[in-house]
Amino acid sequence: MDKEKWEYVKVLIASLVAVIVVLSFYLYKSRLHIERISYKLTVAHKQISELKNLETINRKQKLAIDRLTLKTEDLSKRLSRVESLSEEVRILTEKSLGKKIAYTNRTYALASRGYDLPSDSIDARLSEIEQNINFRENELNSLKVQLENAYEEKISIPHGMPAIGRVSSGFGWRGREFHTGVDIPLRIGTPISATASGYVSYVGWKYGYGLVIILDHRYGFSTWYAHLARAIVRVGEKVEKGQIIGYSGATGNVTGPHLHYEVRINGDPVDPKEYL
Ligand SMILES: [Zn+2]
Repeated sequence: MDKEKWEYVKVLIASLVAVIVVLSFYLYKSRLHIERISYKLTVAHKQISELKNLETINRKQKLAIDRLTLKTEDLSKRLSRVESLSEEVRILTEKSLGKKIAYTNRTYALASRGYDLPSDSIDARLSEIEQNINFRENELNSLKVQLENAYEEKISIPHGMPAIGRVSSGFGWRGREFHTGVDIPLRIGTPISATASGYVSYVGWKYGYGLVIILDHRYGFSTWYAHLARAIVRVGEKVEKGQIIGYSGATGNVTGPHLHYEVRINGDPVDPKEYL
């Protein structure tokens, strides 16, 4: 090989080497670049799936809020019904007690305040409903107590017949003797009931009365049940209106079996006719 050709080959080889070096450098760089891009793609992919998740969660939350809104509206409607019902109960209570009831017509409304988020306005509406329910609950409890007291009062005052029968002899003068009660002829062994709730203050024998039960009631009232055959209550016992306390007989000063029934106020006999 002549010298000139050799030089040419050397230059060619050198150029080839240079080209290979430069190419591999670019190849290496582009590989790095591709790796970076694929990493970025992975990250982007992840973010997209997270976004999708968030979207699903958002949709679920929106559904939940919608449901809560409906539920709140439903509660509101039910509260209005409870409010009108409690108003009706209050009016009925006033009628049955024959008096006005101290009453503050207070309802809690937070309506026109404007809330940015639906959940805020739902919270506000719910707490408004809760306060109104508490208010109505207190009101109904107070009405209940007043009705219970009125009922207790009513059943504590003697009323009605102590046994099924008719009055044969009334209250007042009978010739030279004052009759302090009413007589109800009964077959021996007829059940005798308390005409009001109260406490048993006496069970035993009294001159003329025979076996007698005395019940004490409210407001100074007492009731006497005389000429009994048997008593089934004891002194100190609480009795309810209508409860059987003993059985009729013919004990004491009698001409035939009957119940002698007295109503007394602070110990003084009054005409039981007013209380039958
Ligand atoms: Zn009598």
